[in-house]
Amino acid sequence: MRAFAYVAPETVDDALDALRTARPGTKILAGGTTLFDLMKLDIETPPAVIDVHRLAELNTIHVGERELVFGSGARMADVADHPAVKAGYPVLAESLWRAASQQLRNMATLGGNLLQRTRCAYFRGGSEFPCNKREPGSGCAAIGGHDRGHALFGGSDSCIATYAGDLPIALIAFDAVVDVVGPAGERSLPIAELHVEPGDDPTREHVLAPDELIVRIRVPATPAGRGSTYLKIRDRESYAFALVAAAVGLTFDGDGVVNECRIGLGGVATRPWRAAEAERSLLGQRLTPQTARHAGEVAFAAARPGRYNGFRVELGIRTVADALRIAGERATP
Ligand code: SF4
Repeated sequence: MRAFAYVAPETVDDALDALRTARPGTKILAGGTTLFDLMKLDIETPPAVIDVHRLAELNTIHVGERELVFGSGARMADVADHPAVKAGYPVLAESLWRAASQQLRNMATLGGNLLQRTRCAYFRGGSEFPCNKREPGSGCAAIGGHDRGHALFGGSDSCIATYAGDLPIALIAFDAVVDVVGPAGERSLPIAELHVEPGDDPTREHVLAPDELIVRIRVPATPAGRGSTYLKIRDRESYAFALVAAAVGLTFDGDGVVNECRIGLGGVATRPWRAAEAERSLLGQRLTPQTARHAGEVAFAAARPGRYNGFRVELGIRTVADALRIAGERATP
């Protein structure tokens, strides 16, 4: 790891001051569970880090009647184990439980989790492999290479790296909003607009400026929170990234017909992915094995498999159908 300067502001205003005057490439440090790994691999080489993990203003959790508000510095473990989150929004709790080990959840923050970088082995594997994300213009070893874990949606001719996060899949399904502060003040954006697809520039992964800081994440309250789940399928049952994941929320009307449906897909796209057409396919329908399977087929209809990852299309269809079944059982009074 290369030497770097370390700054530990006491308040958000101090952090913004530090960001304003920071050298290019300076990074915000929160839990450090991703950044330090990348620094040890020489993929991230910041001249300085600004440590925000002690900022009390960011370390808040509030579950209200109209929305859930999580400070960006809230620990994954604290949100996952919050009684009101567990009871009212199992999709959020489960996405956090299944994201990482207990030790990592104790350290990692929600803000850092949103902006974690891909686990593409070529990206992390060193300069022997071409990688447009690490070395722009060098090529992409994954395209036509070992792409078993790479994206089925949102890829480009430059990059097909999968977005690795779990919580953001639940957040996109539930229309979460991210509040950000920067030199021009505070702004809010839907989480669906936070991450970007690689296009011609895989180095750009989100829309935040280098001097902006995520301060909180807000999730609108909905009855679909209770009828929800995060189903994550992986090669082993713990501490692994998703082959496919589905964040699902449902409500039924008095006749047992679906009147709210939310579906996010994880582990299969270059950014958090919402399956809006699949959601619409279920509205006004009864939830049966057939309609759940059909929603899964709609969700994966536009998948673009590569050389070795085609098996995840059928796996994804079944994952969506299974998640709908679990959510449906929870949503049924
Ligand atoms: Fe690099 Fe993206 Fe290709 Fe992976 S998929 S090697 S991150 S350019």
